Amino acid sequence: MTTIHNLGFPRIGAKRELKFALESYWKGESTRDALKDLGAQLRKRHWDNQAGLDFVPVGDFAFYDQMLDMSFTLGNLPERVRGFHGDTLDNYFRVARGRSAQGAEDHGTCCGGVAAGEMTKWFDTNYHYIVPEFTAATEFKLDTTRLLEQLAEAKAQGVKAKPVIIGPITYLAQGKAKDDLYKLALLPRLLPVYAQLLDALAAQGVEWVQIDEPILVTELDTDWQNAFKAAYEQLKNSRVKLLLATYFGQLLENRALAASLPVAGLHVDAINGRDDVLPLIDLLSADKVLSLGVINGRNIWKTDLTAVLDWIEPLAKRLGERLWVAPSCSLLHVPVDLNSEQKLDAEIKSWLAYAIQKLDELRVLGKALRSGRDSVKAELAENKAALAARRASPRVNNPAVQAAIAKIDAGLGKRDNTYALRAKKQAALLKLPAYPTTTIGSFPQTAEIRHARSEFKAGRLDNASYKTAMQAEIERSVREQETLGLDVLVHGEAERNDMVEYFGEQLQGYAFSQFGWVQSYGSRCVKPPILFGDISRPQAMTVEWSTYAQSLTKKPMKGMLTGPVTMLNWSFVRDDQPRSVSCKQLALAIREEVLDLEKAGVHVIQIDEAALREGLPLRKSQWQEYLDWAVESFRITANGVEDETQIHTHMCYSEFNDIIASIADMDADVITIETSRSDMELLDAFDNFNYPNEIGPGVYDIHSPNIPTQEHMVQLMKKAAERVPAERLWVNPDCGLKTRQWAEVLPALNNMVAAAKTLRQSA
Ligand code: GLN
Ligand code: ZN
Repeated sequence: MTTIHNLGFPRIGAKRELKFALESYWKGESTRDALKDLGAQLRKRHWDNQAGLDFVPVGDFAFYDQMLDMSFTLGNLPERVRGFHGDTLDNYFRVARGRSAQGAEDHGTCCGGVAAGEMTKWFDTNYHYIVPEFTAATEFKLDTTRLLEQLAEAKAQGVKAKPVIIGPITYLAQGKAKDDLYKLALLPRLLPVYAQLLDALAAQGVEWVQIDEPILVTELDTDWQNAFKAAYEQLKNSRVKLLLATYFGQLLENRALAASLPVAGLHVDAINGRDDVLPLIDLLSADKVLSLGVINGRNIWKTDLTAVLDWIEPLAKRLGERLWVAPSCSLLHVPVDLNSEQKLDAEIKSWLAYAIQKLDELRVLGKALRSGRDSVKAELAENKAALAARRASPRVNNPAVQAAIAKIDAGLGKRDNTYALRAKKQAALLKLPAYPTTTIGSFPQTAEIRHARSEFKAGRLDNASYKTAMQAEIERSVREQETLGLDVLVHGEAERNDMVEYFGEQLQGYAFSQFGWVQSYGSRCVKPPILFGDISRPQAMTVEWSTYAQSLTKKPMKGMLTGPVTMLNWSFVRDDQPRSVSCKQLALAIREEVLDLEKAGVHVIQIDEAALREGLPLRKSQWQEYLDWAVESFRITANGVEDETQIHTHMCYSEFNDIIASIADMDADVITIETSRSDMELLDAFDNFNYPNEIGPGVYDIHSPNIPTQEHMVQLMKKAAERVPAERLWVNPDCGLKTRQWAEVLPALNNMVAAAKTLRQSA
């Protein structure tokens, strides 16, 4: 009989209860006990949601992050948080969020400032974990409190518990050495603690432990491959059975390694790694369980249950009891409950499944495998009908868009002339000084702006009044920019709630949910728009705002758009066509907007690609393929304009070393990037590549409330000029200013403009 199980459940709550409880606790408005109670309630509810599964994850709940939980379990706390008094939870939030020296201590009992642990993306998801820190002196010490408490709760509730932990190799691989430590040198110290942990779980009567090693879907060098063998050889004598879980990609060349590890079972992502499955079955010894992740844990679409059954029924015959079935990865990366959605279009809703619905699908699969398809006839028929309706829906299929995609040729993404020639024409038109100054787009989103928007959305403010309010904000930011003496102005993005949602709402083929929240980090969630159909642009999206802004000033006004790659990477996307196709559809739609802006007299147009880098596949060997279609999409969007029109792009990061050729290939006239915190050293990538076009390396760290001084920004630009010829440099902040206050922005930009003037004099 096939076993069905789950790898992890979203902990934030269907109505983001955990978010609100955390934030209230951090503000000192509620007690630690109230927070702990809420955690227990959520765990209880989520285990109820998973009733009927043969194994339910325990330990997947975290107040902030599962990696941070693991660091605490392993006793690996950064030196700087040791020796504090108070509760473990206080220390936990100290590492998670840091604490300022002056700031009032909300809940703890003492002292000075503590820097937060670094945060980074969990593989290719939009979830961010707290990076474990290691030094040559790192020692580990087991703390089972959290896990055993949750296990006891689960047992009391009658849950068939399968504790979940991060495996030792992934834990080391995803951490950071703070000195010249070679991380694998810590393995001999780490493994005994894992062995103790498994013993402690065995002592509680645990049968299976899920040990997550997603690092197996990435390229591993020999040392790391050997570390896998050594580690699991050492853990094999434990009294629990280990289910080694991999997810997010394909095992490929790591198949044999994964299959050879002395564990009781292996879970693979059969959505991304379907090709791994048959070879693995041949490689696995006959006593091992194979768990197939056949329900996509990364998207919000219904599973084609009949297709899955067609595929796995023969495997179930072959494997018998050894076959387990599950979602592809933890459901942490999908929203909780589709039934919360009250406003979502009913047709689109009928195509979707959130975490709870995905578990329903899992139960149907389980029943079909055990008792035959007839036992779930109605469910399968309903599922089939929903999928057929989606496939046939005219809202998904737009023949005009498909025809336009088929007609894309290389000429579409190519400008008429080279940068060198364009730059001359642009200089003649724009007449900018040396070291021209600009900003990245948004100005502070004030309480008044947010209030006007919520009133407008609630229908309490009419269209005309909302427009007047936004125009007043645009006028305010134009006046401020003129007073500051900036060279290329922006309208300030007052009318935008979010750089993706704003465009998605105006494009056909996008839908928006009310409760489609996914945890991004800590208490923060994102609600990605749902790209469900062929993308088209019924009408211009930004032209009115941009031309209004231009009418207020003689200085050049920069049009402001979000690029196709960023739209794609920050949305839930279709599973019925390649990402590259959806991206090109977005490119064609935004291209129309670029051309309309140009026609309306906007001569500088910025196309933000903040998320281009995050779309890189987990394996380097697949990078180029992604970069090729991503860059092509950008080029289609941007490069239909005349020589005189200056195209800007913006990216909020500074690691360009490994993708610089593709960035250059985009052929934007100007790229603005984030560099202020890196002391301009990251411009070396541009220098070494002889990057040919203009660059605006950010000189103002907009993430900090500090006001950068003129001298500091002059120094940064001088360093930049050692790497990029001065005539190709711009002066600008790192990113948009929407999260800052005007009181911070004005003095900072004033200093920035003064810095540019100083640089011009010394040039
Ligand atoms: N134009 C956007 C802004 O200024 C860019 C934001 C971003 O890169 N994340 O807010
Ligand atoms: Zn940015």
